[in-house]
Amino acid sequence: MLVFRQLFDPQSSTYTYLLGDSSSGEALLIDPVFEHVRRDTALLRELGLRPVATLDTHVHADHVTGAWLHKAGSGSRIMLSEASAAANADRLLKHGDRVWFGGRHVDVRATPGHTNGCLTYVLDDQSMAFTGDCLLIRGCGRTDFQQGSPARLYRSVREQILSLPLDCLLYPGHDYRGLTVTSVAEEETFNPRLGGAVNEADFSGYMNNLGLPHPKLMDFAVPANLRCGQPDPTMALAQDPSWAPLSCNFSGVWEIQPSVLEECIAGGRGDDIQVIDVREPEEFTGGLGHIPGARLLPLAELAARSAEIDKSRPVVTVCRSGARSAQATVLLQKSGFSQVANLAGGMLRWRAEAMPFDQGAS
Ligand code: FE
Repeated sequence: MLVFRQLFDPQSSTYTYLLGDSSSGEALLIDPVFEHVRRDTALLRELGLRPVATLDTHVHADHVTGAWLHKAGSGSRIMLSEASAAANADRLLKHGDRVWFGGRHVDVRATPGHTNGCLTYVLDDQSMAFTGDCLLIRGCGRTDFQQGSPARLYRSVREQILSLPLDCLLYPGHDYRGLTVTSVAEEETFNPRLGGAVNEADFSGYMNNLGLPHPKLMDFAVPANLRCGQPDPTMALAQDPSWAPLSCNFSGVWEIQPSVLEECIAGGRGDDIQVIDVREPEEFTGGLGHIPGARLLPLAELAARSAEIDKSRPVVTVCRSGARSAQATVLLQKSGFSQVANLAGGMLRWRAEAMPFDQGAS
């Protein structure tokens, strides 16, 4: 039986797809996201599946692929387009290739235009296709960077995607409005850029005048994706800390969720964990308040005063939004602290999640 799941990354509005063959236990992951490798691995385990390959639809500019981490964790093979020129791939795919998972497979179709290495993966029975950023629901990917070309995108969509059976379901790489799936018939009729009577000249005129901003993560994500998501090799991969359930983001900062910190404190570990608030004194005593028991040590003074913190005990850093305190974890690590985590979302999330707080001076 075919197992199918659609997974979401709210940060970049990226969809990851899991395709599994229940009889053999083999599965594919299409466009896995770096920050969700733990989640995806847990889901695969619970479904009784093991990933044999990760397939990226292209070199993404808005998130980092989880391909390398999945390979490191479960031995799945990294696959993406030959045209991507990415390092660390185990198999470079081209038009007409087939990728098997158990008794099922996907067919590879080259659909360049958003980037020159974009691929669409079509399930063996043509009931589903995974279009990446080539065709989005009532839209398409941008064509103004990464060797994009409106003319090529137009031909890819018309010749390789809208030529599939009318009832073939199309699953995009992203959706920013919460839509999850469309079909060939729907996009052929209702896609305002590529459907109906729109011709190549109409489409190119439209795409060349979008005037979109530079993607926020591009300068960071593209180089990482050209390594298939291998973390910066100069950055030693830290062992998972055991003092609390933490998660690591791609920039290498360990984070603790508000509910986890609150549980640690309520569970009597408040004397063990040192909560260091790195905001300014007037913020510490201001409207957002501070975490009960937190110590004020403004970021600007942190490096000079780090000797006031006990290196043998875990440290959680806190600020308003989680940005300054992320920097504080980096400073503390440089000063030799090994058990440091950032409070995810800072006091804003702490308060939004109705956690206990104190006001006034500590
Ligand atoms: Fe993209």
